[in-house]
Amino acid sequence: MVISMGEGELHVFFFPFMAQGHMIPILDMAKLFASRGVKATIITTPANQPIFSKAVDKYAQLGFQIQIRLLEFPGVEVGLPESCQRSDQIPDDDALPSFFKACAMLQEPLEQILQELRPDCLVADMLFPWATNTAAKFDIPRLIFHGFSYLAFCALNSIRIHNPFKNASSDSELFTISNLPHEVKLTRLQVPPFQRSEVETPMTEFMKGVMESDDKSYGVIYNSFYELETDYAEHYKNVLGRRAWSIGPLSLYNRDVEDKAQRGKKSAIDEHECLEWLDSKNPHSVVYICFGSVANFAPSQLHETAMGIEASRMDFVWVIRNKREEDNGSEKWMPEGFEERTKGKGLVIRGWAPQVLILDHQAVGAFVTHCGWNSILEGVCAGVPMVTWPVFSEQFLNEKLMTDVLRTGIGVGSKEWNRSESDGVEREAIAEAIKRVMIGEESEEMRSRAKAMKDKAKMAIEEGGSSYLELSSLLDELRAYHAKQ
Ligand code: UDP
Repeated sequence: MVISMGEGELHVFFFPFMAQGHMIPILDMAKLFASRGVKATIITTPANQPIFSKAVDKYAQLGFQIQIRLLEFPGVEVGLPESCQRSDQIPDDDALPSFFKACAMLQEPLEQILQELRPDCLVADMLFPWATNTAAKFDIPRLIFHGFSYLAFCALNSIRIHNPFKNASSDSELFTISNLPHEVKLTRLQVPPFQRSEVETPMTEFMKGVMESDDKSYGVIYNSFYELETDYAEHYKNVLGRRAWSIGPLSLYNRDVEDKAQRGKKSAIDEHECLEWLDSKNPHSVVYICFGSVANFAPSQLHETAMGIEASRMDFVWVIRNKREEDNGSEKWMPEGFEERTKGKGLVIRGWAPQVLILDHQAVGAFVTHCGWNSILEGVCAGVPMVTWPVFSEQFLNEKLMTDVLRTGIGVGSKEWNRSESDGVEREAIAEAIKRVMIGEESEEMRSRAKAMKDKAKMAIEEGGSSYLELSSLLDELRAYHAKQ
């Protein structure tokens, strides 16, 4: 199929923040726009090109208008290691401001490409707050991609305005986040440190700029769907008065095995071997455990996790990403004999897993997740109940959507926001939560609610579904804007 751009057709730039959890959905988004007749240009840095190139080449060969343009990343100029071009490569939290500084230095080279190609719209990550001014220079709309759920955005916005944690008597006392459609509670320890900090840090300052640019942008594209968080989509538009389009779940647009398997990085396991292993298991008998691309556990937490999985007595696929330098990758924390004892029952994947492929397999009965928004959506699309184990970012709020609003998840009892050394969840709690989502009446009820939401997700992206129509209305609006120029 060859799709050519007609007179008045759109050219959209997509510029994701350099983190797997942002680049993966933006790639899916660029493919989706291209499949609807838009010319899509993805902007990234040289080291991140491989994340996009295979899919882009495949799509371009099919006749869609999709391409990549590169910007040199000035990491070394701000003191970062040469190899650091992605958020999971940032040495520690103290280096975060340098990473954002290097990102801001991409403004000028980006403007050169905008000048050269003159697109009609710039979809840029929220973590590039300067992109709103950049788009204004070219008189084109700047759309924001947060990678958040509506619930998380609404809650973080309320916390920013009302600081409700200030009334809590201790770090661990629950407080209610005001003005939300449901009663959502957190503790101070679960609020992002830059939001709860008494003193202004470079990150507080940076996040202020992010929120201001959000207020000034044309609108926000959500990787969500109306039926998933209806109350919050309505609250966002009608109470907060903001413009947004929900066009997800984006991962669902990947329909064949190759597209589902090759997302982000090359898998550490051959996907056919993985599928064969799952084929040998009964439906809903395997728990899949994975904590995304950034979160890090302390060695004691990894040890406790292994003990908890074993104590649950369930079959499992466990993705272990931590290769701790101080261990020389030796996994000293691994309980002695764990892999021998669980041979046949468990599959350990060290490195990157073909997550969507695994979740979609009928043998998988539950997902133990850190509640990254992409992982949550992928679990929703697979129709599996979840054990929620938030670690950092807005994950504690995504957990609430699963456990309190949709009631398709059971919390493991994660208490504290900690990106680099998460700890404190005990084996008994892990085993108990896994058993509750995998077996028994409560599990059956959650599974049936999860299955109903999976069906709604599928309907949302089909022609005439809510996400399909929201994208149509966004494209109409962009075309009208373009026609006025
Ligand atoms: N992912 C994957 N294999 C892995 C780990 C993660 O394919 O071994 C993908 C996952 O499917 C999701 C993304 O990486 O699309 C992670 O995004 P998420 O928002 O869940 O978490 P983050 O990594 O941003 O914390």
